[in-house]
Amino acid sequence: MVILSKEHYIYSFDKEHEPAMTISSGEQVVIETHDCFLGQIESEETSYQAIDWNHINPATGPIYVKGAKPGDVLKVTIDELEIASTGIIATGKDLGVMGHRLEDFAIKKVDIVDNTYRFNEQLRLPINPMIGVIGVAPANEGISCGTPGEHGGNMDTTLITKGAVLYLPVFQEGALFGLGDLHAAMGDGEIGVSGIEVAGKVMVTLEVMEGKSIPHPIVVNEEGAAVIVSKPTLDEAAREAVEIFIDIMEPLTGLSAADLSMLFSVCGHVQVSQIVDPLMTARFFVPSEVFEAYGISLFK
Ligand code: CA
Ligand code: ZN
Repeated sequence: MVILSKEHYIYSFDKEHEPAMTISSGEQVVIETHDCFLGQIESEETSYQAIDWNHINPATGPIYVKGAKPGDVLKVTIDELEIASTGIIATGKDLGVMGHRLEDFAIKKVDIVDNTYRFNEQLRLPINPMIGVIGVAPANEGISCGTPGEHGGNMDTTLITKGAVLYLPVFQEGALFGLGDLHAAMGDGEIGVSGIEVAGKVMVTLEVMEGKSIPHPIVVNEEGAAVIVSKPTLDEAAREAVEIFIDIMEPLTGLSAADLSMLFSVCGHVQVSQIVDPLMTARFFVPSEVFEAYGISLFK
């Protein structure tokens, strides 16, 4: 088994980064990850000033996938997702939706037991482990791991979890893939600016799909598929996600734009990924029955 240690981490997706590892298309790799604070928050007493905010959102990587070229698609199958047994939730002044009403920096350290987390004495809730940061090197200058985009990055999308397949556009030779920022749990929106931030490890299979091309990441699971778009506003992100899906489905179904608009109006879902990062991330989800009815297997 090939393992990439979490000692190999980057703070941006960037074509200039030297690969930490080179693999062949179709290979499986286990990627160890730091939490998004690089482990700097050890207790609930850690102060805002004690944290070096230049050292957050590390992604483990980059991994050079042989044969990947600009214009291809990188298929990322998430085979396993393991999280640490404690995690950190943080918020505070100027952080998240409530930041303008909060005075101090607030930290909660939670234990994860039996697939649940204890928020407080009264409240124990189920985990929904997921990957916050996952992507490839973008077309132009590097992009901080804290920012989402066409290359993936900090998409904070709850659907990116074990069993899902994520398709990423490739912009550079070798793709230069990386991931990090695992969450034991996160709600859509991530309104307070953090999930339950945990270290962990992820087993993925990375495969180059030549002759395929997508404008934004697409995640597929048993229930359906979603195009994930990040823009300055949620409106722009949601609208672009819908239009991309219409453009994908028109040639595959032979349905008109009006028919698809009616179909998606009744069965498709605009969903929010996150509203707290430098760009907002929305997705448009189409249920698998639609693909099955037309014999469409996206990217297979
Ligand atoms: Ca994140
Ligand atoms: Zn996170």
